[in-house]
Amino acid sequence: MNRILIAGAGPVGLTAALALARRGFPVTVLESGAGLAAESRASTFHPPTLEMLDDLGVGAELHERGLLAPTFAYRDRRAGLIALLDLAVLAGDTRYPYRLQCEQSKLTPILRDHLLREDGAEIRYGWHLSGVEQTGDGVTARSADGRSVAGAWLIGADGAHSATRRAIGVEFDGITYPERFLVASADEELSAWLPDLVSVNYVFDPVEWCVLLRTPDHWRVLLPTPSETPDAAEYARLDARLRGVHDPGRPWRIAHASMYRVHQRVAAAFRVGRVLLAGDAAHVNNPLGGLGMNSGIHDAIAYAAALAAGDESAVEAAAGARRRIALEYVQTVSHQNYERMRATDPVARAAHLDSLRATAADPVRARAALIRSSMLSPLRPATTRPGKRARPATTRPGKRARPAATRPGKRARPAARSDKRPRPAAA
Ligand SMILES: Cc1cc2nc3c(=O)[nH]c(=O)nc-3n(C[C@H](O)[C@H](O)[C@H](O)COP(=O)(O)OP(=O)(O)OC[C@H]3O[C@@H](n4cnc5c(N)ncnc54)[C@H](O)[C@@H]3O)c2cc1C
Repeated sequence: MNRILIAGAGPVGLTAALALARRGFPVTVLESGAGLAAESRASTFHPPTLEMLDDLGVGAELHERGLLAPTFAYRDRRAGLIALLDLAVLAGDTRYPYRLQCEQSKLTPILRDHLLREDGAEIRYGWHLSGVEQTGDGVTARSADGRSVAGAWLIGADGAHSATRRAIGVEFDGITYPERFLVASADEELSAWLPDLVSVNYVFDPVEWCVLLRTPDHWRVLLPTPSETPDAAEYARLDARLRGVHDPGRPWRIAHASMYRVHQRVAAAFRVGRVLLAGDAAHVNNPLGGLGMNSGIHDAIAYAAALAAGDESAVEAAAGARRRIALEYVQTVSHQNYERMRATDPVARAAHLDSLRATAADPVRARAALIRSSMLSPLRPATTRPGKRARPATTRPGKRARPAATRPGKRARPAARSDKRPRPAAA
């Protein structure tokens, strides 16, 4: 019996399921919800994730639903644009030298539809995993209402509150940030208000830092929010805060807004016997830099390859490598992003902004910085050392990156160049 069980039909569980099904494994996905989650959370796909999803045969459909972001910007609340980083310098490193802006809720139905076309693949909705039992060569998942299903392996991709992780007794240590993050999706065209805006903008400020993100359907604004204030009070002052970004002389049109507590945590082990942890079940981090879902998808792909190798030592190595990357790369980069957004020391702030300007102006420095922020460095340490040109063979032979089809008429605007003078503007 080589059926693989997967707890959770989020982006990570469904990627693992499809990657395994494509390699000939029968898979059963156990999902507690009645259907796929529609919540709008992750919205940025990095180059290596786009390569992996393309290899799974879902890249073109994802591109049809997303927006290309060939650049991203660092801004300062008071000084305006500081630096524009252009991912075109990664053309020799990846067949996707850009980010794709697209909500995770648009990826999961694509993965599901491809998965259900595979022989031996199934999704069981309304199946809430609550217990796990292991034998030497298999694992049984149990639901709260007394059902059970057996497989050769179980991948726990059941999110930050993972019942799989609890069932196998793995600790989830780390920190919770003092602020909550408030994410507002606006039916507004921010680029008409702030003309040098690109699709991804990190806006530094010691008090009111924010992130401005274009998604196919909205502009999203992410703001830090005190931890103890009543939610209703925060939503009541949201419009005033948004008018600090830009004041259109009327209330902003907000489609929806939600508040999140944000943690940095990594599971003490990613593998216990025949159970693997992936995605938010294994590691959570703040959303600055867009690393959470992306690294979860990388876990899923690594586990599928290791399980297909049919060798337990490959599985052990994959779990160990993914945990190291979560600790050494994802946690470090996301926390650094958080500290830089809100830095208060004026000397350190000025030095950081100068360094960003210098990076944007120098293609060698820019490439090194982008290799790191685009998640290429932890996956290809040998080929992506700064200054060393990667083989174009990160590209599959004969397969050229399509200048990916975005939504008709929605191609990201050619970005303003990094030497453009900063405007004294809000955000
Ligand atoms: C505001 C915000 C913005 C973000 N932006 C980004 C971004 O731009 N880029 C990025 O990479 N990441 C981002 N993230 C993080 C990203 O959303 C998560 O990392 C991602 O959802 C993790 O996917 P997952 O499949 O591991 O878990 P989830 O998406 O949480 O899916 C888990 C699934 O498991 C199911 N489940 C739960 N318990 C059980 C159970 N006991 N039995 C069976 N099923 C169960 C759930 O119903 C769910 O369907 C953001 C997060 C937030 C909050």
